[in-house]
Amino acid sequence: MDLSLSPEDRAFQDEVRQFFAENLTPDLREAGARTGGVFAEFDAGLRWHRKLAKKGWSATTWPKEYGGPGWTATQRYIYSREATAADAPRIFSMGVRMVGPVIMKFGTPEQKAKYLPGIISGDIVFCQGYSEPGSGSDLASLKTRADSDGDDYVINGTKIWTTGAHIANRMFCLVRTSSEGKPQDGISFVLIDSMRTPGLTVKPIITLAGDHEVNQVFFDNVRVPKANRIGPENAGWTVAKHLLEYERGGEAYTPNLYARIEDVRRIAREEAANNGGRLIDQPEFARKLAETEIAIQALETIELQVLSDLSQGKNPGAISSAMKVRGSETLQTLDELGIEALAHYAAPFEPEARALGRNEPTVTPDYALTAMPLYLNNRAATIYAGSSEVQRNILAKAVLGL
Ligand SMILES: Cc1cc2nc3c(=O)[nH]c(=O)nc-3n(C[C@H](O)[C@H](O)[C@H](O)COP(=O)(O)OP(=O)(O)OC[C@H]3O[C@@H](n4cnc5c(N)ncnc54)[C@H](O)[C@@H]3O)c2cc1C
Repeated sequence: MDLSLSPEDRAFQDEVRQFFAENLTPDLREAGARTGGVFAEFDAGLRWHRKLAKKGWSATTWPKEYGGPGWTATQRYIYSREATAADAPRIFSMGVRMVGPVIMKFGTPEQKAKYLPGIISGDIVFCQGYSEPGSGSDLASLKTRADSDGDDYVINGTKIWTTGAHIANRMFCLVRTSSEGKPQDGISFVLIDSMRTPGLTVKPIITLAGDHEVNQVFFDNVRVPKANRIGPENAGWTVAKHLLEYERGGEAYTPNLYARIEDVRRIAREEAANNGGRLIDQPEFARKLAETEIAIQALETIELQVLSDLSQGKNPGAISSAMKVRGSETLQTLDELGIEALAHYAAPFEPEARALGRNEPTVTPDYALTAMPLYLNNRAATIYAGSSEVQRNILAKAVLGL
């Protein structure tokens, strides 16, 4: 793939920069810069989503046919690099990134008309109900039941680690509709139209960093119309697997990694080494930074190939597992370097200091505020969306033929 920018791509880059300069207000940039987890503070993210939607840029990976900008892989990559460099808030994107492409591929015309425009505008916010206690890596063992009752399913069971269930207004969910045959053959994929459906309860799980991002969701006779099923009954596993490839490979990791390595460099320029000089000039630390940058560049090559495949309508396939492993592990390396660079400044626990608009003095310099929350929250990056061990199993089987 040609990485040099054509005159058209440069013009596109200018257009993106200008749009960001005019629309990324200081409060939105603050929300981006103070993100200590995966997504920016929800309200700020939604405000940004709506601004992007007006411009036609809220679903960067979608084709024009469904309201996306129809960008090439290069344009999408340029956009991501500019967005992370400008501290644009990371929007809660499970609708755009995951269930949207699934509805495009498996949904009926009615389902497409019902959900896709709302995902684009930001009115419809989906969370993902896959994992259950005891059914994470071994997802096909899931037990949440959907029993047939006329035109409805009646759902009982529980989902866990559901990111954003407290701020989403809909959920895509895997449920068991049959206990016959292989576990994979009795699963269906349903959309729940309101997180306030009677019988549905959301309970928070607070992370080590003190953030509320994940939840446990309980279903007690929750009624969902069968018309909300995506694909045939008991064929949900095929739909689920398609979605997982987008979850693991649908978004480039490297724009964020490049932005994060700049953050670490900035800290290392400010902080002193043991010899009294700047940390950035210390050979051992400089070596670690250089090694990490090489890892990011190597990953970038794979990512651009995957993004190019996606933009031609091809499935990323097992290579998305390689992206997931390298992306999440390199992210953790950067978190560790950030903590190492900050030394004792990484220790103070000041979760309230990250609240938007807060301007009271903090114990640490501003650049230290998100380092520990990111370090703690990103420990999960090698677990969610399929753990590193599971991704390596997939690569061993599908790519190496072991
Ligand atoms: C912060 C966070 C957010 C999440 N968000 C969501 C969400 O929004 N929606 C959702 O549905 N789920 C979500 N998850 C759940 C996530 O997908 C699961 O945690 C993940 O799939 C692992 O499953 P588990 O927790 O049951 O661990 P287990 O599957 O029990 O794994 C435990 C350990 O065993 C290893 N292991 C398991 N099987 C194998 C194997 N076959 N070979 C080698 N090693 C193996 C794993 O790698 C892991 O180290 C989230 C998780 C976290 C931590």
